[in-house]
Amino acid sequence: MTCIPDVTSPREVMVLFERYGLQPRRQLGQNFLIDANIARKITAAAEIKPGDAVVEVGPGVGALTVKLVSSGADLVALEIDRGLAGLLGDILQPWPEIRILHQDALKVNWPELINSHFAAGRPVKLVSNLPYVISGPFMYALFKAGFPFHLAILMFQKEVARRLVANPGDRDYGGLSVLSSYYTTGKVLFDVSNNVFWPRPKVGSAVLKLQPRQRMLTSAEEQHLWYLVQGVFQQRRKTMLNNMIRLFPRSRDKLVGLLEEASIDPAIRPEQLTADQFAKLTRITYNYHN
Ligand code: SAM
Repeated sequence: MTCIPDVTSPREVMVLFERYGLQPRRQLGQNFLIDANIARKITAAAEIKPGDAVVEVGPGVGALTVKLVSSGADLVALEIDRGLAGLLGDILQPWPEIRILHQDALKVNWPELINSHFAAGRPVKLVSNLPYVISGPFMYALFKAGFPFHLAILMFQKEVARRLVANPGDRDYGGLSVLSSYYTTGKVLFDVSNNVFWPRPKVGSAVLKLQPRQRMLTSAEEQHLWYLVQGVFQQRRKTMLNNMIRLFPRSRDKLVGLLEEASIDPAIRPEQLTADQFAKLTRITYNYHN
C-alpha cells in the first residue's frame, strides 16, 4: 500500500501545511488531534466494522479519518476548508471510494445527504472531533433533523459536553440538555487533555456517545416542544407557571390546570424538569391548543 504521512505527528502536519501553503484557522475551530491513541480510542468507541456507513464532520488533516477508513468505514467527510479538503484528498488516495465533500456542516440537509450517499434504511454512524465554534448550532440542527444517526461518537469542548448530558438541577442544565435527552441517550466516554491538539486550545475536551431515543411526540408536537423549551429557558429562574403565562395566551387558571394535568407543580422552575416531563406537557398544551 502507498505510504501515507503520519497525520498525528505535529512535525509531519506542519510540513504538510507548509507544502500546501496552509495555516491553522482559529475562526474555523482548527485544533488538530496529534495523538494516535486518542484517534484509536474514538474509532474503537464507534465500533467500526468493514462496510459501516460513517459520516465525519471536519476531518481536517485526517487524524480520525485515516483510522476510520483503515477500519473499513464507508465514509463521507464534510470539510468547510477548501485547502484542507484538497490536502486530505491527496492523503486518502489509497481509498478512492471515500467521499470528501467541501461543504459547511451547518448548511446540510441531513436526511438528503444520508439518502444520497447511502442505501435507504442503512444505519449510519457519525464520528467527529467537532470544531468548537459550531458545536451548539450543529447539535441543534441534528436534533431538528430528528437525529438521523444510529450512533454518534463526538468530541466537544468540555463545557458543551457537560451541557449535552446535564440532568435537571445541574448548573449546566438548559434547553440544549432537554433537547439532547429528548432525542438521544448520551454519556461521557472519556476526557481529553488540551495537550493533544495542535495548535493547543485553551480548554479541555470530552468524547460523548449519543444514541437515538424512541420519541414520544409527533413532528407537529415536536415543533411545540422546541417553542416551549426555548421559551422557558429564556427565563429559567421564573416558575413554570409564570413562563407559561408569558408564552401562551390562556387564563392563569387554565394554565395551572394544564400543568397539573402533566403532574407538574406550577411553582417549579424549568431547570428542574426532565425531558420526558417537557414532552408530556407539550402533548397536553398542544392538544389543548389544537
Ligand atoms: N478531525 C480533525 C482532527 O481531529 O484533527 C480536525 C478537527 S478540527 C477541531 C475541526 C475541523 O472542522 C477543521 O478541519 C475545520 O476546518 C472544520 N470545520 C469548521 N467548521 C466547519 C463547518 N461548518 N463545516 C465543516 N467543517 C468545518
